[in-house]
Amino acid sequence: EKINQALLRDDFVIYFQPIYNLQNKKIIKIEALLRWNSSELQLTTSELIAVAEKTGQIIEIDRWVLRNVFKFAYENLREIPCGVSINISVQSLNSGVIIKFLQEALCEFPINPAQIALEITEHSLIDNFENSQKLIRNLKTLGFNISLDDFGTRYSSLNYLSKMAFDCLKIDKSYVDNIATFDKDSLIIEQIIKLAAKLGIKTVAEGIETEMQERILQKLGCDYGQGYYFARPMDKTDILSMVTRDIEFL
Ligand code: C2E
Ligand code: MG
Ligand code: MG
Repeated sequence: EKINQALLRDDFVIYFQPIYNLQNKKIIKIEALLRWNSSELQLTTSELIAVAEKTGQIIEIDRWVLRNVFKFAYENLREIPCGVSINISVQSLNSGVIIKFLQEALCEFPINPAQIALEITEHSLIDNFENSQKLIRNLKTLGFNISLDDFGTRYSSLNYLSKMAFDCLKIDKSYVDNIATFDKDSLIIEQIIKLAAKLGIKTVAEGIETEMQERILQKLGCDYGQGYYFARPMDKTDILSMVTRDIEFL
């Protein structure tokens, strides 16, 4: 339907939100987030993704996003020490087509895979643990980084942390929301951060909206942050000027 047309006409755009070092406030990478310029349909990105997951169109969306993010990184970020994070759907991961899409994109836009982090959600790992484990190992062999997205929203098995080679763990916004008010949530986050550090996994706190939340996370030893308090998702031009401005002061 409308999604197919959008793919054809390039009605989708990619926004980027910075992920920054909580200690020195430098941008370390940017997360690619899909936006749809649809005049007729008012869907949020989450709603769009949910529909596309049902219809199976998510696979074509993932392919489109990968190609366009690689193009962007190839044209703008080759000389810049800034990574890019890309969300990968359950379907593309578990069907294994993601490997093909990544190879396609790399062939057309040869960038260093170490500059790319693939964000995978917990529930993509549940269905078929061994299969996912194998796929993640393959992605790592190709040189990509792997982040576990939305950690804490569903089953949060600590089992994953030791069994899968994640580079980064993204603590879900729902924990960050409560961190200043619920002692228990900050205790849980503190332990997760400590455990991750011991396993050599970096932590990112998602959805930081206040100075207070940022300060607490910093104190708990969280490595990186992301949220409206630091910066909202923005278009290519804005993110590039923000990233290059940041680099000049390195
Ligand atoms: P996510 O990967 O967990 O992305 C973080 C979401 O939190 C983004 O929503 C971002 O705009 C939002 N966010 C960041 N900071 C704050 C904050 O301080 N406050 C609040 N209230 N929200 C904040 P967005 O862009 O609407 O995306 C929603 C979800 O859709 C993403 O969650 C991701 O799972 C999925 N998604 C987005 N882009 C893509 C894509 O290109 N491909 C796939 N497969 N999924 C995508
Ligand atoms: Mg994400
Ligand atoms: Mg998330």
